[in-house]
Amino acid sequence: MKKLALHSKILIGMLFGVLLGFLMLQFSWGKPFVQDWIEPIGAIFVRMLKLIAVPLIIASLVKGISDLKDISKFKSMGLKTILLYITTTVFAISIGLTAVNVFKPGEGISTETVVHLKKTYASNDQIKARIEEANKQKETKPLQFVVDMVPENAFKAMSNNKLMLQVIFFTIFLGISLLLVPEKQAKPLKIFFDSLNAVVLKMVDLIMLMAPIAVLSLLATVIVTTNDINILLALLRYAAVVVFGLLLIVGVYLILISVYTKKSPIWFLKQIAPAQLLAFSTSSSAATLPVTMERVEEHLGVDKEVSSFVLPVGATINMDGTSLYQAVASVFIMQVLWPEGLVFSNQLVIVLTALMASIGSAAVPGAGMVMLVIVLDAIGFPKELLPIGLALIFAVDRPLDMLRTTINVTGDATVSMLIAKSEGKLGEPHVQNWDDDYPKK
Ligand code: ASP
Repeated sequence: MKKLALHSKILIGMLFGVLLGFLMLQFSWGKPFVQDWIEPIGAIFVRMLKLIAVPLIIASLVKGISDLKDISKFKSMGLKTILLYITTTVFAISIGLTAVNVFKPGEGISTETVVHLKKTYASNDQIKARIEEANKQKETKPLQFVVDMVPENAFKAMSNNKLMLQVIFFTIFLGISLLLVPEKQAKPLKIFFDSLNAVVLKMVDLIMLMAPIAVLSLLATVIVTTNDINILLALLRYAAVVVFGLLLIVGVYLILISVYTKKSPIWFLKQIAPAQLLAFSTSSSAATLPVTMERVEEHLGVDKEVSSFVLPVGATINMDGTSLYQAVASVFIMQVLWPEGLVFSNQLVIVLTALMASIGSAAVPGAGMVMLVIVLDAIGFPKELLPIGLALIFAVDRPLDMLRTTINVTGDATVSMLIAKSEGKLGEPHVQNWDDDYPKK
């Protein structure tokens, strides 16, 4: 029998997860049952992916840099990557602003809906928590984020997934220094990291064996914890504008892939699909990173010298889906609650702050909404309306988070293809399965 492709297995798992979720909603005991007995499977899977993220970044980045013969190449690749990330993000924000101004989803919201949403969500604990978190971030000095990239303690940085940029900083420093010491002294460390890299990639393969059942668990949990369907319908026009914008961005990625790298867009989507489906199921680009790295290197043929830098940096700072969402959501909230704020200068401020905010957003579920508070604050949105504004979009935030995370991951993969092509580092795929290299009895 022909073996099913991984993305097909994951899709089947997702489908069963949705069905199971809806089935369980029919019983009074269904929701607690899913939360007690089904949710842990997905939680374990996400933990395992996060568990290997730091070792994978360190091993593959050290290997990537030490394989470079010359440091100036790294500089040019670094600059190109950052420029491309900023360009795609500004482009995404512009698409979002154009779409929300043309389709005006805020006009479809009745006063009753606003009152209902306010009653249901304005004092919601999660909304309060997001506003508090945003306030904490606002208090920092403008250049603090640069200072924060430099760790004081390498081991402390490695012990916290939120400090990914610190880990990247330390590893680049280590990799460059490794290039500068004599070959004889560098060799043992290089061999060590090569070996660690191969082993961690094998761990990705092994964890992925669990993916179909894990996405079943993740999606069943999302369904049973989703909010009132009627509210979702009221927000359909807003959600449709976000989805439309996200689809446009994917279209642009595919055109870039096809024109610049001369690869088929369908082939690209097929190779990257498991990472996209996981991004969708987990709503976290950070948790998806190990799989994105594996797919991009082994299935798209991007050289490790490129992917080991471009992807971890991208997971932390490049969030095209999130920035588009921030643009649409902030204007939508203004259309409903503060139409006098809809002036051109505010839209310009949105471009700048959404750019900074998407760079600053953590790659975890719901992070985009925290940074949305900062965007709204920058345009002078009235503080007393803030909880109501967030209440307005809260009901559809999870499904939109799933979609924007998928786009965030696709954007990182696209940029790594483009950079690889421009550096002459786009080769042939070399797929390794979980059971490759084992002696067969
Ligand atoms: N969940 C998104 C990510 O991990 C961030 C966000 O938009 O909330 O990429």
